[in-house]
Amino acid sequence: MTETLFSKIINKEIPADIVYEDDLCLAFKDINPQAPLHVLIIPKKPIPRIVDAEQSDQELLGHLLLKAGEIAKQEGYENAFRLNINNGEGAGQTVFHLHVHLLAGRNFIWPPG
Ligand code: AMP
Repeated sequence: MTETLFSKIINKEIPADIVYEDDLCLAFKDINPQAPLHVLIIPKKPIPRIVDAEQSDQELLGHLLLKAGEIAKQEGYENAFRLNINNGEGAGQTVFHLHVHLLAGRNFIWPPG
């Protein structure tokens, strides 16, 4: 796949406010936050969209969700946060490297817009 902005963040070619990193994933603050806490959790493996994930990615996908919960807790928002994955342009995806949005610190409406 073509290199995205997020590959450059993983490779430390462009800066990011990193809140967590391990062998499988990276989590950093969104540059245009939509809530007081807005973190993106991304796999280091360049999966473009969630629909492109394969059976062999099952453990990796679970890892992203587990880390999202841990980061929410670590930031003091364990009782109220939202996780969001946009898949495809029509759903608002702008960077084609899978990412989980972790949002917290404000009220959220349902259904989402
Ligand atoms: P999406 O629209 O779901 O593809 O989300 C992409 C997100 O990446 C948006 O919320 C952007 O604000 C965020 N973003 C774009 N460039 C950067 C960057 N350099 N550092 C951190 N977040 C970014």
